[in-house]
Amino acid sequence: MNGESKMTIDDLNQEIKGCHKCRLSETRINAICGEGNQNAKLMLIAQAPGENEDREGKMFIGPSGKVLDELLRASGVKREEIYMTNLIKCMLPKYRKPKQDEIEICSEYLLKEMEIINPDILIPLGYYATRYIFENYAIPLPPRPEFYTVYGRLVLTDDRKIFPLRHPAAALYHPSVEEEMLENYRRMRFFLTDCKWYPVCPMKRYYEEGRLDKRWIELYCRGDWGNCVRYRMEESGEPHPDWMLPDGSVDERLREGGL
Ligand code: SF4
Repeated sequence: MNGESKMTIDDLNQEIKGCHKCRLSETRINAICGEGNQNAKLMLIAQAPGENEDREGKMFIGPSGKVLDELLRASGVKREEIYMTNLIKCMLPKYRKPKQDEIEICSEYLLKEMEIINPDILIPLGYYATRYIFENYAIPLPPRPEFYTVYGRLVLTDDRKIFPLRHPAAALYHPSVEEEMLENYRRMRFFLTDCKWYPVCPMKRYYEEGRLDKRWIELYCRGDWGNCVRYRMEESGEPHPDWMLPDGSVDERLREGGL
């Protein structure tokens, strides 16, 4: 990696636009490049462009784009704050499922994008993007009927966090999942900043003293702090012991010498 000259996002996008590595190049109008803030903490990864996107050459401008905009509005996250891309850069004819060889060939671009943009949190949208990202990080996948259990669950890997969400199109076809989607998309807002209590929180001290696993800090204080029991108690002024963990459990070992 060090020997190679550093590729920029513009270099990569040029490659994507002219790509003919798989059969999808024969039926597309435009290969769609990623869009958004190149310094983003959050990278949304959708499956593939639809017909509107293919025609206009932009991401998320069709019906799914409208849903995404509503979900982002509800979560208080602006498109300019995130980076959005696709697992597959060209339209899948008649909205068919992606084939394994198409995923293997095209995901090379996604991997390069991840390296260039270097987001803190990957947000794969829907089944194929999530499956690819989990396989890439060797995270076990639940069986297909239980796959939905991964949505809205923050996962920590060695170098990034992963927060899978349902694809916005799910709200168009399965209105029953809309409420859950809204709830999960809203949590993206927490990922843009650290918890406001972090600088003075005992968890920070325990971590710096080497007494607390990094996982607690990354998953809560620098991740999904809105889900932290300590955070909620701080906000409502409820007393709680210093050695209470973010999930509300109490670790008496932290108590020793912790006062
Ligand atoms: S433990 Fe909870 S309250 Fe403390 S900094 Fe982390 S997220 Fe915030």
